[in-house]
Amino acid sequence: MKIYMESYGCSANQASSEIILGLLSSTFQITERIDDADVIIVNSCIVKPPTEAKILFQIKKIVEEYPTKKIIVAGCMPEVYSTKIKKVAPNASMIGIHHLSEIESIAYDILRGIQRVEIGYNTSPKLGYPRKRFDEKIGIVQAAHGCVSSCLYCIVKQVMGPLVSYPEESILDEIKNCVHQGCKEIWLTAQDITAYGLDRDNSFPSLLQSITQINGDFRVRIGMMNPETAYPLVKDLIEVFKHPKIYKFIHLPIQSGSNLVLSRMNRNYTVEHFFEIVKEFRSVFADISLSTDIIVGYPGETDKQFEESLKLIELIQPDIVNVSKFGPREQTPAVKLSPLSSQTVKDRSRKMSTLCRQIALEKNNNWIGREETILIVSRGKKGGLEGRTHTYKPVIIDIQHCSLMGKFVKVNIIGAKHGYLLGNIKT
Ligand code: SF4
Repeated sequence: MKIYMESYGCSANQASSEIILGLLSSTFQITERIDDADVIIVNSCIVKPPTEAKILFQIKKIVEEYPTKKIIVAGCMPEVYSTKIKKVAPNASMIGIHHLSEIESIAYDILRGIQRVEIGYNTSPKLGYPRKRFDEKIGIVQAAHGCVSSCLYCIVKQVMGPLVSYPEESILDEIKNCVHQGCKEIWLTAQDITAYGLDRDNSFPSLLQSITQINGDFRVRIGMMNPETAYPLVKDLIEVFKHPKIYKFIHLPIQSGSNLVLSRMNRNYTVEHFFEIVKEFRSVFADISLSTDIIVGYPGETDKQFEESLKLIELIQPDIVNVSKFGPREQTPAVKLSPLSSQTVKDRSRKMSTLCRQIALEKNNNWIGREETILIVSRGKKGGLEGRTHTYKPVIIDIQHCSLMGKFVKVNIIGAKHGYLLGNIKT
């Protein structure tokens, strides 16, 4: 029997896709061609309304185009929006993000015409499973699920619940396993990585310290940190970030440049806290890459408060900004708030995105002419091979160097776009 999968969403959801394929590939054949499949799995994401709408549309299209094929919807959508799935795919089976170990029996059952819906919260770590990796050089390791915060707009909280930090030994074993299988880059992920250990006698800097002691020449990309949990850890974090295994890259969502808006989002930090974290890291790692997230058009956001977000971005000059238009999510407290006009939200999103791209391009232009050692771990989305600098900046080089996959190579930076650098191998 053949299985085809479409995977959406964050690193943690990609890891779940790899686990699902890993569990199934011992008894089923995994096919890249949807036409050949007997079972189609859609691993869903609901982080934003447009993403949810796109995936529901895709599921409906699959049902219409392949009426005889079996469909399983996995991921976060079954956990909170199973009724929406039933509307577009009444015969689909569903497997929630916390039930990965049941995928094989669900696949067998649906082939025998038995529909199953396995959803509901649990605390089981998503570690120790067989994997079918999307990129053989990249190991995605989840360190925890859930968080200690309650941001009013967040639907992820409804799925992932309170913080569950996974046992340090299990995380270290997972990474050793990745390195043993040839991974050169580890994505250490969680909803809020710096919350790690708050629910058990541990801390994220201590976990990271242990990870740097693992043998092997690999690099670690640290996942998203909430400024609320990162702020008290800054000094210890900077110490362990000095280790060469750690990419000099931080993903620190600020969400708004206005303290009033942050408090209305129930984000438990101030712009000043965020600014101090960035300043501290930059005082030690001058060219550290900063990625952040901004929500524009949050209910009640005034022109002045939006201006504060623009000013903050101009001030901190981030390398990457994920700009999101606020969208009300059912089952979140923020759905009750009266929204701004869609035109206002659109205008603010366009203005913010334009500014962020300009800054990203200016910052990348500063790298032209530099000689860098990059780690090549994947193919470029638009062709070529993609490597990463020590600050996790993507560098695209000519495809002919396939043999360099997983290697550290010296390159000259010869060009820049707002999203990546161009390099050629130093001869
Ligand atoms: S920190 Fe906030 S935005 Fe992130 S998962 Fe938790 S509640 Fe959601």
